[in-house]
Parts: sequence; C-alpha cells; structure tokens
Amino acid sequence: MPQELSDFIRRRIRQDLAQGSAEFASGVITRFPPEPNGYLHIGHAKSICLNFGVAREFGGFTYLRFDDTNPLKESDEYVAAIKHDVAWLGFDWGEHLTYASDYFPQLYQFAIELVRSGKAYVCSLSSEEIRAGRGTLTQPGEDSPYRDRSVEENLQLFEQMRAGEFADGEHVLRARIDMASANINMRDPVIYRIRHAEHQRTAGQWVIYPMYDFTHCICDALEGITHSLCTLEFEDHRPLYDWVLENINVNFHPPQIEFSRLGLEYTVMSKRLLNQLVADGVVAGWDDPRMPTIAGLRRRGVTAAAIREFCRRIGVTKQDNVVEMGLLDFCIRQDLQAAAPRGMSVIDPLKVTITNYEGPAEAMTAPWHPDDASFGTREYSFGPNLFIEREDFHEAPPPKYKRLIPDGMVRLRGGYIIRCDEVIKDDAGEVCELRCSYEPASRSGSDTSGLKPKGVVHWLNADTAVAATIRLYTNLFSDAVPDLADLTAALNPLSVERHQGFVEPAIDASQAQRFQFERLGYFCKDSEEAGVYNRTVSLRDSWKPQQTPKK
Ligand code: ATP
Ligand code: MG
Repeated sequence: MPQELSDFIRRRIRQDLAQGSAEFASGVITRFPPEPNGYLHIGHAKSICLNFGVAREFGGFTYLRFDDTNPLKESDEYVAAIKHDVAWLGFDWGEHLTYASDYFPQLYQFAIELVRSGKAYVCSLSSEEIRAGRGTLTQPGEDSPYRDRSVEENLQLFEQMRAGEFADGEHVLRARIDMASANINMRDPVIYRIRHAEHQRTAGQWVIYPMYDFTHCICDALEGITHSLCTLEFEDHRPLYDWVLENINVNFHPPQIEFSRLGLEYTVMSKRLLNQLVADGVVAGWDDPRMPTIAGLRRRGVTAAAIREFCRRIGVTKQDNVVEMGLLDFCIRQDLQAAAPRGMSVIDPLKVTITNYEGPAEAMTAPWHPDDASFGTREYSFGPNLFIEREDFHEAPPPKYKRLIPDGMVRLRGGYIIRCDEVIKDDAGEVCELRCSYEPASRSGSDTSGLKPKGVVHWLNADTAVAATIRLYTNLFSDAVPDLADLTAALNPLSVERHQGFVEPAIDASQAQRFQFERLGYFCKDSEEAGVYNRTVSLRDSWKPQQTPKK
C-alpha cells in the first residue's frame, strides 16, 4: 500500500472495527456480486478494487458471488470471463466463490416463511396490471385484489408455482408491505417469478426464480457480509433490503452502504449497452480494444496496475461523476513509462535512399530503456534503404516545422544526420521516395560533424524492417456523454485507424508484449493476431476526442 486510503467507507469501517463487536471477529467480509450477463467494465473495476481492497487492508476476505437469478440473460462464458478479469486485476477470492443459485433452496424456504407469517402473497395480476397498480411518485398504489388471500391458499399456490403447474407470468409472489409507501420499491414488490428456462447451473431444477432485491440481502446475510457495498442506484432499495432481513429468521443483518458509480467520458458503462454493441457487430467483440471492458483495455495493452491506480485516484464518494478519459490515459502512461522497452516503428512509411552509402549494413546498438539498464540493449542497423514517417517530410513546410524538408537536414534518432537532396514523385504527383546523403561523421554518440539539425525523427532500415499492422485507437463515441437513444449513430467513425507499417526486427523477435514506439506512443502486441500492434495510449497528454471532420 503506497499510502493509507481514507474515504467515507474506510472511515466507517475503521469506526466499526474500533467498537470491536463480535460481528467483526473474522475481519471485514465483503462481496463483489456481478450478474453474469456480460463482461466486466472499468466501472466494475472500481467496485472490485473497493471490495477486495478494504478486505485486504483491514483483514478479512471477499466473496466473488455471481448473481445468477435470471437464466435468460446469463451464461457460463460470462462467468468464466468475469473470473478471469477479477484474477487478472490482481484479486483473489480464494475459496469464496459462490453463486446466488447455491442458495435457491434456502431462498425458497425464506419465502415460505414470509408467506406463513402473512408477509408475502401470490398475486395473479399480469405484469402490466402490477405496474399500473404501483402508483407514481405522487400517487399511492392500489392494493392487489389477491392481497388478502389466506396463508393456506398462498402456500398451496406458491408450491404449485414451484412445481411448474403454471405458465410464465401467470402468478408471482409479492412481499406484503405497503402499497401507499412513499418509496415505490416498498409497494408490495415482486420477490419470485415463474420462468420456464434452463439455468446454466441448476438446469431445469427450478421454474421459479427469486428477484434481485430478495436474493441479494439474504445471500449477504448468509455469507456474513460485514459491509455490503453497492452503487447509489440501490439507495432507494435499502429499505427493502432491511425489511426482508427484519422479517425472516436470519441472525445476521449487514449494513448496505452506497457509493457513486464510475462514469467515463466518451464511452458507455452498462453491460446492456455494451452487449448491444457486440450483438450489432459495431465492435469486434467484448475485448475490442475500444471497449471500456477489462478485456478490451487488456487487449489494448493497459496493465492491471494502471487500472488499479486509476481506481485509487478517482476515490470513493457519494457524488455522481463522469471522469475524463485523460485521467485514465495518465495512469496508463505513468505505468508504461517505467515498464515498457523502447524501439522504433514507422507506421506510414516513406522510402529514403541514402545515395552516398556503400557496403553492408552497419550494426548499431541502443538501450531498450533510457533510464533502466536492466532492460538490456537491442541491435538494429543502418543501410542504404530506409523508411521514415511520411509526416516527417514536408515539401512546403508549415511555420516552425523542424523535420525534413527539401535541401534540409534531420537527425535519424540513434543513427546519422541526413540531408534531403532530391524528391521523387509518382505519376500521381505523390512523393514516393527521398534521395538523401548521410554525414559519416555524425553517428549518434560519436558525432564530430559539427552539424546541428533542429529535428530528430524515427526511422527503420527498410532491408530488415518487419512488416506490421498498426492499429491506432481513439474514443469510441463522438460525444463526451453519448446519446444513448441511438447508440450506432453516436459512434465515432474514426475510432480506429489501421496502418500497414513496419517495426524493428528486435521488437518483432522480443518476448515483451508492450513497447514505446519512439515518438508514436505506447503499443502492445495484439493477443489474438500475430504481427498486429495496438496503440495503448499516445505519448503526451494531448488527448483530444477525435471528431468527425466537419463537412
Ligand atoms: P451494468 O449496468 O453495467 O450491468 P450492473 O450494476 O447491473 O452494471 P452488476 O453485474 O450487477 O452490474 O454489478 C456488479 C457490481 O458492480 C455491483 O455491486 C455494482 O454496483 C458494481 N458496479 C457496476 N457498475 C459500476 C460502475 N460504473 N461503477 C462502480 N461500480 C459499479
Ligand atoms: Mg445488475
């Protein structure tokens, strides 16, 4: 731990522990409860860092509990992906891997208990009728005509629901609380529904499924969760959380504590919306490097350490906030600055012929990292055929342009000074080759030429450079706060740019995954496709949203 964190949740936990009550005998026990209906995103990382973080800091442990109460939307693929992502982020649930479905038998018994004490009833209204009868923020709801069914009849019907004697939607089990409550969540909420669907874990064993609000608090109690940390949208559900636990026979009652969700500019943070992007095929999958998913960030080259640092910096509050993309980029850059070896790549190559160079290629050596000798050195070479970046040459340079121009000079980084003597164009009038001469006395590190060109550019020996596909990523959506009504229209058409370029042979041969390509940014070898490099982040804090050019 670099420094002790002190947000309102940690202050509360310190207070609780200071009281030394028996509840905290096993330390701080938390849970991260994802629904396996999609991949995790960076918002989930905030919750993961918080839940696993406090258990680690204060002594205790964290359950990874899958909230698998809706068999229609959930799958094993998502379960596996979520486990992978939590572990990759650096957190260990040890033996505390659970599923809400593990508790289906107990949940059913607790529901019967509520029915027996007259606190739950089988309602036979349709879901539309239930919705219509709930009232509004200003108007109370109306009692269901089934509200006063006898306990015997309710027990009988609930048992028949469980036995599969009714179709989906024919009946539900509702808590019997207060249809006039100021809190709509307390107006006889549905706690069980019929769903004839195969569940990924319990198969066809159950045809009734408990609702989230009923399930979550009971699982928390059964697991002895000392602090049930959730996001602010559950604040209005807290009375129901407490009501359920007060009205069943369970001897543990965790406090629910809410914090604000993470929002990030230029992206969306909801599995439902991300799922839609995947289903519509507008991204290459859940791990598309433009996605705010953990899998997407990983594929883009972002490290777990950078994500954890980002979560530490945003902190935990009750204020809803949308964080700037620049902060995430800052954390990524700070981490890679130390961790990534350097090398050269040319993503938009322009051929350079050195007319006064004779003989075989000249071997050169440079450190993989300017500040850290433990990275060792790499070999590259200089020769008669080179590539430079097309944008490092200008025939009619804009003011203050320091790179190569006709009759001008530039230093090739870690190489020689060259002078542009002749510009060759193709039939279409495009520059296709520069004929240059090099200054033999100007080799980097032993320069006695006395020449002082203003610019330094990156380059490759074209005879040995390895072809590579370079993908440059920017914001997935055009606006900081995308219009959710038409997700496809809100997408930034320029969110990925593909280049056919080249990299140094040493980069191609290296076992390392992440590199700084000098002057271009941090890049990562794609985990799926060989010879493909994804840009993780640019070098400087020059992040500007990429907008569609105005016509
Ligand atoms: P989504 O809308 O993305 O599906 P969710 O809340 O429905 O989010 P869950 O799988 O239920 O997704 O979330 C698991 C946990 O992660 C919950 O405790 C939830 O509060 C937390 N969480 C989800 N999104 C965020 C976010 N943007 N910031 C912080 N915590 C989040
Ligand atoms: Mg959810």
